[in-house]
Amino acid sequence: MTTGTLARIIDGKGFAARLRETIRAEVATLGFTPGLAVVLVGEDPASKVYVSNKAKQTVEAGMASFEHKLPATTSEQDLLALVGRLNADPAVHGILVQLPLPPGLRAEAVIEAIDPAKDVDGLTVTNAGRLAAGLPGLVPCTPLGCLLLLQDCLGDLSGREAVVVGRSNLVGKPIAQLLLQQNCTVTMAHSRSRNLPEICRRADILVAAVGRAEMILGDWIKPGATVIDVGINRVAAGDGKTRLVGDVAFAAAQRQAGWITPVPGGVGPMTIACLLRNTLTAARRRERDDVISNHELV
Ligand code: NDP
Repeated sequence: MTTGTLARIIDGKGFAARLRETIRAEVATLGFTPGLAVVLVGEDPASKVYVSNKAKQTVEAGMASFEHKLPATTSEQDLLALVGRLNADPAVHGILVQLPLPPGLRAEAVIEAIDPAKDVDGLTVTNAGRLAAGLPGLVPCTPLGCLLLLQDCLGDLSGREAVVVGRSNLVGKPIAQLLLQQNCTVTMAHSRSRNLPEICRRADILVAAVGRAEMILGDWIKPGATVIDVGINRVAAGDGKTRLVGDVAFAAAQRQAGWITPVPGGVGPMTIACLLRNTLTAARRRERDDVISNHELV
């Protein structure tokens, strides 16, 4: 059974542009310049594009961008030393180490070295734990972007059945935690889940964060559901060209769902916008803490 009408498109690109504009306006009122340091190790072409986009949008938001490009041969000790310097640098409010790191560098060790108050990717154990415990912290950017889009189209999420397919620390787990905080009834599915189509059909909110092109089919979607497609998969498009598709078979899903994010132009643009939002949050908190400690000194 289909709904007979096509799902409304969730315009992540437009939402992200408005969010960046709001952030820019708030930064202009701060009286100081928030700073974001991005560390890129090696020559991964996709990572280079991400890092240059991040730097461009950081500057456009009125923040300072500190780019650190290191060769793939960098030792873990040198990388940890750089993170230590950035932790101590008062001009830096947010630190992001672009993943994946080249072989031989342990991402967990490097991420754990970041001061949780500057961990704008929300990946340290401290911030993951604070999210799980319902305490304020810094939340991973893509999951935060998904939540903002859901709240924008649905308003209050309380009581809704949410299914998250994928359980990575970067995407699936934090999205599930955020939805739980919003009083959704959350199911997490993964590669060992049985009857995945049936689990997905329960969802009022279906979040796909798998990394498998168009795996979620139209008849897995409950009529009228809201579908958030985090997946970014490059597939052959003929003529030797490629195109991006999500984890959801979009055309069929659009005939079932009430709302759906396109790929590209849905969740993707929210990630950098939320990185800027986290940098602003980190900067504001540091400023507030500095004011408090100055008062204590008086
Ligand atoms: P991971 O590879 O870390 O995790 C994938 C998850 O999908 C795992 O939990 C895995 O289960 C699950 N999975 C794999 N195969 C199946 C299957 N057949 N059925 C059910 N579950 C399955 O990926 P990420 O979470 O990092 O990323 C997911 C997708 O989101 C990717 O396409 C990535 O490119 C995209 N992405 C997009 C971003 C954006 O800005 N829009 C940002 C980050 C990621 P198990 O744990 O059992 O192995």
